[in-house]
Amino acid sequence: MTTLTIKIGEQAPNRIGAETVIRYEQDRASLTVRRRYCKSCLLCVEVCPAKILELDRDDLIYVTDISKCIFCAACAGRCPDFVFVVEPKAEPIGDRGPFRLTPARGGR
Ligand code: SF4
Ligand code: SF4
Repeated sequence: MTTLTIKIGEQAPNRIGAETVIRYEQDRASLTVRRRYCKSCLLCVEVCPAKILELDRDDLIYVTDISKCIFCAACAGRCPDFVFVVEPKAEPIGDRGPFRLTPARGGR
């Protein structure tokens, strides 16, 4: 099984084989789609708020426009066959959040 990584803004190929795992990446999250496990039930299509999930000509789930994905994980929660995995990316320590480093004041 091969993994195809597509960053937001990149064009996905027109036809992707059933054995290919697709990993869509943006700055703060990724969505992995393991199409070979799809059984064409359409449950994920019903819950996706962005309306970007469809079955392709092989009756396997396909993301039509990843730029509209909000990485909400509704598809992952609904799919009975664990086709989707949504993962947040870790933020670097010192950049944001509770571990932000603050400069010393007044030279003290
Ligand atoms: S993560 Fe949310 S918006 Fe993206 S494909 Fe899944 S249900 Fe749709
Ligand atoms: S819910 Fe899962 S099995 Fe059903 S169509 Fe969507 S990806 Fe395929």
